[in-house]
Amino acid sequence: MKIGIMGGTFDPIHTGHLLAAETVREALGLDEVWFMPAHVPPHKAEAGFSGEERLRMVELAIGSQSAFRTLDIELRRGGVSYTVDTMSELTGKYPDARFHFIIGTDMVNYLPRWNRIGELASLTRFAAVGRGGYELHAEDLAPEVKNKIDYCDMPQLEISSTDIRRRLREGRTIRYLVPDKVHDYLQRSGTHAAYARTTD
Ligand code: ATP
Ligand code: MG
Repeated sequence: MKIGIMGGTFDPIHTGHLLAAETVREALGLDEVWFMPAHVPPHKAEAGFSGEERLRMVELAIGSQSAFRTLDIELRRGGVSYTVDTMSELTGKYPDARFHFIIGTDMVNYLPRWNRIGELASLTRFAAVGRGGYELHAEDLAPEVKNKIDYCDMPQLEISSTDIRRRLREGRTIRYLVPDKVHDYLQRSGTHAAYARTTD
């Protein structure tokens, strides 16, 4: 089994995340992609939406794509979500799976600063998908990391959760930036309005 791991805060999930996962699934011939919301991401403020809300929105976003699943391993573990801890747990649990951790190119330059990156690169390959506005500096990466990255071309979508949160605060539209079901969930749950009171 070739499994893609789509890790992120998903605060909230948007069309860029889905297209990234679908692009890598096709390019690398993955059997499944598992969407894994972080509990508390390293180097980032705590998420605005709760873990439960973020997971629910991921479920709604995945919809009928039967190759996509959710994985709540980091939410259940709690604390700061270090990818190396997660991948070590997953490789232990699924010894026959080959993992491809999906990242936007904005994260590639950042890889050297990931916790225990050498160990992580021995547990998984990385699949990098294009995200506009970031210049790649792959030459700065250690060979054991650099050799573990597959690059996949994707139509660039300039969508970020940060921009979506800003729009929610400003009472602006997020329709089509997120799947319809996520849009409806945010409207229905009143989270839309509640979120508008928080700051980034
Ligand atoms: P935030 O603005 O809160 O950082 P985000 O939009 O970057 O949110 P994350 O949950 O941080 O979303 O991202 C999870 C993963 O998805 C990261 O590897 C990120 O690079 C990738 N990603 C996010 N948005 C896009 C996009 N529009 N195109 C390609 N990759 C993306
Ligand atoms: Mg991000």
